[in-house]
Amino acid sequence: MVVFVALGAFLMTLVGGLAAQRVTDRRHLVLGLAGGLMLGVVGLELLPEALEAAGEEFLGVPRALLLFVGGFLTAHCVERLLAVRQAGHGADGPVHGHGAGERVPQVGLTAAAAMVVHSLMDGVAIGAAFQAGQTMGLTVALAVITHDFADGFNTYTLTRLYGNARRRALAMLFAAAAAPVVGAASTLLFTLPVELLGSYLGFFGGALLYLAAAEILPEAHHDHPTAPTLLCTVTGVGFVWLVVGIAE
Ligand SMILES: [Zn+2]
Repeated sequence: MVVFVALGAFLMTLVGGLAAQRVTDRRHLVLGLAGGLMLGVVGLELLPEALEAAGEEFLGVPRALLLFVGGFLTAHCVERLLAVRQAGHGADGPVHGHGAGERVPQVGLTAAAAMVVHSLMDGVAIGAAFQAGQTMGLTVALAVITHDFADGFNTYTLTRLYGNARRRALAMLFAAAAAPVVGAASTLLFTLPVELLGSYLGFFGGALLYLAAAEILPEAHHDHPTAPTLLCTVTGVGFVWLVVGIAE
């Protein structure tokens, strides 16, 4: 089941990467929806569950929330250190934005490698979430699969942006697509203790929220903020609420 679901992540990453090769406006809608789903999953499913599983306080704050903040900060720091801002801003591709002047292929590869590691964590999160319960697993998988479009898009664009050959970009794209499957499969080998599970999901929630707020949503409105994109985001949140509500 877990690996089967992770195959959805595999396909979506590839779709995102292939979409990066041509201009399409519909990706804004996909990104808007992904942002909403991610926000919904973090706020309505991950955090409540993480609090329940790892809720005891440490220095006056529930541990799950400390890790949530830690996850957010970690994602922020990694992103700043790699300075991958110009990533995936789009359709206009390699010539767009700053950094286009000095192209160091290794920078592109390092950033793409970070995306692969991130995708690996996505996969582990899917597996861990399924260990916490069916609804949890499915909603986290949903959030991962939809934002994988952006993951694939960014992996391909980042690699190309710094002057790497198309073939190399496709190789990184494939690695990023396979990573969630590997990550999810790895969780079949062990059972996480409930507390550790809650901690990991809290941490993952922080990273996921950062990704949604700082990367996915700004990207969704990059060229032109539109009402349909906003509507997709709100729909995404509402959908998660519905799923969580029905499952209760
Ligand atoms: Zn991801």
